[in-house]
Amino acid sequence: MSNVATDTNVAVTKPATTDLPMVYVNGKMLPKSQAAVNVFDHGLLYGDGVFEGIRVYKGKIFKSEQHMRRLYGCAKAIRLDLAKHISPEEMVKIQRDCIEANNLVDGYIRLVVTRGVGTLGLHPFKCPEPGIICIADQIQLFPPELYEQGMRVVVAKRPRIPVECLDPRIKSLNYLNNIMAKIEAIDAGCLECIMLNTDGFVAEGSGDNIFIVKDGEIYTPPSEAGILEGITRKFVIEELAPLVGVQVTEKNLRIEDVYAADEIFLTGSAAEVIAVTRIGENEDDAHRIGSGGEGTITNMLRTKFRQIVTSDNVPEN
Ligand code: PMP
Repeated sequence: MSNVATDTNVAVTKPATTDLPMVYVNGKMLPKSQAAVNVFDHGLLYGDGVFEGIRVYKGKIFKSEQHMRRLYGCAKAIRLDLAKHISPEEMVKIQRDCIEANNLVDGYIRLVVTRGVGTLGLHPFKCPEPGIICIADQIQLFPPELYEQGMRVVVAKRPRIPVECLDPRIKSLNYLNNIMAKIEAIDAGCLECIMLNTDGFVAEGSGDNIFIVKDGEIYTPPSEAGILEGITRKFVIEELAPLVGVQVTEKNLRIEDVYAADEIFLTGSAAEVIAVTRIGENEDDAHRIGSGGEGTITNMLRTKFRQIVTSDNVPEN
């Protein structure tokens, strides 16, 4: 910590630059080292909570309204009445405060809502107040060069958790299904995987949605395949694809369809738009997709995406 004299000559305690970002935790804005949760919080004890990963582009909260709708919807799905405690507008204000506290222009917000502090049993309704955490920082999910070259992925052996068990449409704090699949990718020397559902259809990546391109058209698994309804996915379907004049169809895909695709790409708030160019356990005998480089349609979508998020009209809704 260093004491910094302001122009009114009042000494304010500013955290050392190594103790950033400033993080919002349950009503307080705290430097990184002090940003901690109570050990009785059910978010920690049971993964009982929901979250959002949100991009900030040019100081604007990308698709803020949609993220708030999803967050409140997911909270409701786990029987947490978030609106009773805090309005979506107040939730956005917390994010803006974090952006401002960290002078963030381009970055990433992690907004976490936990069931809150309770007893050691599972009983969620013994937690009177939800916990709210907001971190505004930087993120680099994949190395920059992969955005131009495309990436290799593996097909995870572990299926995506079935809808009947825990609906993947709920962006819950239970991410172990995804993390274990991600470990399969890391063990194979790459950074992402394709997860199938328990019916054998393609679902999504461990942290992103999947699209394929075949004969000039785009296909992506429907929500019922057991996927998170990604906000970047929706942006591609409803805005980017029409802008580049390509049709998108939601339909169940088999892994054979993916292997036979002309192009494959992944989307996510953290991932943005990135091509998958090879599928396999190792570099040498990986299955090559299309020409082996980023495809034309993927390139058009990625370029359009970057154009919009670096423009003066970053959409907040
Ligand atoms: N699927 C999963 C499992 C994810 O974690 C994410 C990232 N939140 C996505 C898809 C992409 O969703 P979005 O575009 O809303 O970030």
